[in-house]
Order: sequence, then C-alpha cells, then structure tokens
Amino acid sequence: MLTRDQVVAAANRSGFEDVGFTSMDPFASQHDYLSAHRAEYGWAEAVGLELLAGCDPKNVMPDGRTVIVLMEVYFREAYPAAMAGHFGRCYLDDDRVTKDGLSRRIKAFRTFLRDHGVDSKVPFHLPHRVAAARAGMGTFGKNCLFYSNRVARRSSWVLPIAVVVDRAFEPDEPTVGIGCPEWCRNACIAACPTRALKGNGRIDPRRCISFLSYFGQGLTPPELREPMGLYVYGCDRCQNVCPRNAAWLAKDLPVNGKVAAKAGDFELAKLLHMDRPYFEARIWPHMFYMPADDLWRWKMNVARAMGNTLDPGYVGDLVRAFTENDDARVRGMIAWALGRIGGPKARAALERFRPAGGGVVREEISRALEM
Ligand code: SF4
Ligand code: SF4
Repeated sequence: MLTRDQVVAAANRSGFEDVGFTSMDPFASQHDYLSAHRAEYGWAEAVGLELLAGCDPKNVMPDGRTVIVLMEVYFREAYPAAMAGHFGRCYLDDDRVTKDGLSRRIKAFRTFLRDHGVDSKVPFHLPHRVAAARAGMGTFGKNCLFYSNRVARRSSWVLPIAVVVDRAFEPDEPTVGIGCPEWCRNACIAACPTRALKGNGRIDPRRCISFLSYFGQGLTPPELREPMGLYVYGCDRCQNVCPRNAAWLAKDLPVNGKVAAKAGDFELAKLLHMDRPYFEARIWPHMFYMPADDLWRWKMNVARAMGNTLDPGYVGDLVRAFTENDDARVRGMIAWALGRIGGPKARAALERFRPAGGGVVREEISRALEM
C-alpha cells in the first residue's frame, strides 16, 4: 500500500521541495468568487479555461480521492536583469511547450504513481493555489499571490501544481487566508501601476499588466502607457515590493544558465524587428500566450517599453521599425515612444512621418510632437 511518506519522497526526488494533500471537496468559495465576478473573469472562459468547472475536482476525475499538491520554486536561480526587467519571472523558464524542465519532473512523479497503481491527472483549470492553501502549504497576499509556508523563504516565487489521484490519502490541515503582516501598509496595492489591486486579496485582472500585455485589445490606452513601464510580457512589481519576498530577493542565487542562453533572443531591438519565422522558432516556444498572428502586440509592447526606457539609443530602432511595419497599432505606439524619448532625432523622424501617417497614426504623431 502506497503511503504518504512514499509519495512525498517520490515528489522530493522529482525536485519538488514541498508536497501537500487535500480532499476532493469542491472549491466552493472559489466558485462563488468567480461567479460573482464574471465580468472580470469572463475572458478566461472565452479562451477556454473553464475556471468554474475546475472548481470541482470531480469534474476532472469522477473517481478521484485526493488532490496532491506539488510545490515548484520557479525563481530558484537568478535571471538576467535585462530579462527580469521586461518579463514576469514566472514566464522566463516556462517549459509548457518545450517540455524540457518542469514537465519532465511532473511526468516522472506521475510515472511513479502509475507504477504503484495510482491513476493521476494534472488539470490546467483547477484552482491550484487554493488547493495548495487547503493542503496547508501557504497563504495568500493582498496582491492575490500565493506565499509558501515552508519553501523559498516563505516567498511568493512558487508555483503549486495540483495532481488529482484515485487513491485516498490523509489530508493536511488547511491554511487558507491572507497571511500578510499587520505592519505592511499595503505596499503592493500602492505600487500597482495600473490600480489592478483592489485590497483584501481582490484584483481586477483586466487592469493587471500581465493580462494587458498578452490579451489587451488594440492600441494601449494613453493613460496606461507610462504605468505599464518596461514590461513587455507579464509584471512582477507587486511581488518585488512585497516585504514577504525580501528575504528571498536578498539571497545570492546562481544564474539560470538556460534562461541566460536565450536572453540574446529577447533583446528589445530584436523583438521589435522580428519576423514570423524568428518569432515561431525563438520566442513562441518560451512565451506562447500570443500567437504569430498577434505579432503586432509583441511589437507594440516592445515599442512602449522602449519609450519608457527614455533611452535615445532606441530612437534608431524605433524609426526603422516605423518603416518596417504597416500596422497602425505598432506605428501609433512607435510615435508615442519617440515622443516620450524626445530629442532632435526623434522629433525630426516624427515630422518626417507625419505626412505618411493616416488616422490614428497621424493623431499619435501629432500628440507625440506636443509632448
Ligand atoms: S502584476 Fe503588476 S499590474 Fe498586476 S497586480 Fe501586480 S503590480 Fe499590478
Ligand atoms: S506588499 Fe504587504 S500587503 Fe501586499 S502582499 Fe506583501 S505583505 Fe501583503
């Protein structure tokens, strides 16, 4: 008979430092929350995430008996500063397409279960973090992120992975709730540049930079361009400022060689000028929320980030990209970025482009010249 201790040992051998167990009971509070905030989470259902169905593990495995939660520390190694400044850390070593890291370790754990006669499923849409809290592995922050009770110096740089199995194991004592210290004056809420955090663990995901960067529609509204700062894909700001993360951020971590090796492909200038084959070969396998047909959004995001660097060194790339691209959303953002960086070279380019630009591009150029 497979014991809890044997399961924990197998998970540890697969590189998961922490493991928890919870029942198959529905995640009723999560279901209620999602139902009450349909307007904010409707986009998830629209892209096929079926979050409401995921609130009942029985929908995943009708004869399931336990949810085992594996804790992955995704920020175990340091990322190049140029990458962490523009991309959310949780996306930097994401192997869901390449299957050359975490996926292999999950597979090894599931193979162990199968060899012991236990069937398992790893559903994408189950509320993994709520499952982890119910398995006693951590608490939430007011920034809506999950903080470990035991690993990575109790920080939020963790990714809980829920595995539904058809074998009963004794559940752990839940630690569901917000675990922020009284003395923190809501640093995350104050720091959120787009006012996505609503307090007491509530967020409007549609205002979060992460959502805006890969699902935002059309040209980024003017009032969000500066607040979105240097981020191209994802955002870590509310984690970077959080005192619950300070201990881990102070740690001297070894460099993640895999991410360092691909950092050159993610230089802003290369992303701004990339064509479809470059994107499909070098970028999409690592950051895949935007398909090749959305290359315009990548370029718009990069142009916005370049503008917010205030670095005149990017003017040449922005000018070249204006002539390379027909898309009004990309051209419009390039005009904004040139206006934000400013200087005689940027101004001369905007004057030159003004007659060629029509509609929204012309408006953006005019506004940029007034900056
Ligand atoms: S990830 Fe960024 S935009 Fe989203 S809630 Fe946190 S600070 Fe705000
Ligand atoms: S910044 Fe403060 S309020 Fe926000 S999650 Fe961290 S400890 Fe909690």
